[in-house]
Amino acid sequence: MKIGIDIGGSHVGIGLVDEFGNIQQKKEKYIVEKIENESQINKQNLKEEITQFIIQTIKEYQKMDFVENVGIAVPGTVNQTTIIKAVNLGIENYEITPIIEKETGTKVKLKNDAKCSALAEQKYGNFSECENGLFLCIGTGVGGAVIYNGKVLEAKEVPGFEFSHMIIQKNGLQCNCGKRGCFEIYASLKRFKEKIAYEFNLTTLRNEEVIKIILNNKDDVRLKYFLNEYIENLAIGISNLINIFEPEKILIGGGFADYKEILLEPLKQQLLTGNLLFNKRNDIIIQLAKFKNDAGIIGATLI
Ligand SMILES: [Zn+2]
Repeated sequence: MKIGIDIGGSHVGIGLVDEFGNIQQKKEKYIVEKIENESQINKQNLKEEITQFIIQTIKEYQKMDFVENVGIAVPGTVNQTTIIKAVNLGIENYEITPIIEKETGTKVKLKNDAKCSALAEQKYGNFSECENGLFLCIGTGVGGAVIYNGKVLEAKEVPGFEFSHMIIQKNGLQCNCGKRGCFEIYASLKRFKEKIAYEFNLTTLRNEEVIKIILNNKDDVRLKYFLNEYIENLAIGISNLINIFEPEKILIGGGFADYKEILLEPLKQQLLTGNLLFNKRNDIIIQLAKFKNDAGIIGATLI
């Protein structure tokens, strides 16, 4: 058995995974606090809290079965031992693997979460027949990975491929990373949902409620504007990546899946007709990832 750990924007999921990629056991811990209807991450002691939960759960799983190795999917930049930067969690330069290895006696590996998800899709999901693919995880934050000639690409010193922090707007909105105008701010579902919630007096950002508002106000000019603006920005970022990598297929994971009926086809049309692609295409294969919430856990076992 292997242990796959997914440190997400709102919770940590830990799975005991068999050799076929099936999750046999799963434990989750929420790391956001609800404060006046807004999700806010409790950043104080967060890394210690996460580490202790991981150690405790690994020990529990070790009592149940032989554990070969442990992988952790991290929403940010990592090297072999350290979370270098996870801006949405406020974690920087945290050497996490020696702490866990010392307590559990098991080898621990780290990888960026989007790259883990791409590995899961390649081995068990919708990239199985694909040599060149682009993976995007669109949720609270945005992550990405590229499969090129059958391999998930990675740079040498730091892992690279930080698509979400490519700038798509000069002097644009402030990003958590310290720069301005990053793709992540414009493509994140969080900001999209916040705008709709504000304009339509919603007190929650729950996807079901936001979707209900969208479906009930299809002809509202404000809503049309928000949808168009979101799709246009998303298409600009994705088209930049298509122009660089020319993928056969694009998969989108994360909370975006809940908005498939509303966003996926307009996004595809914008990519095809928005004068964005250098090499014109008659069609583009863009679909949802197979794995939704479990992609990080399954992918982390493949590091
Ligand atoms: Zn940024």
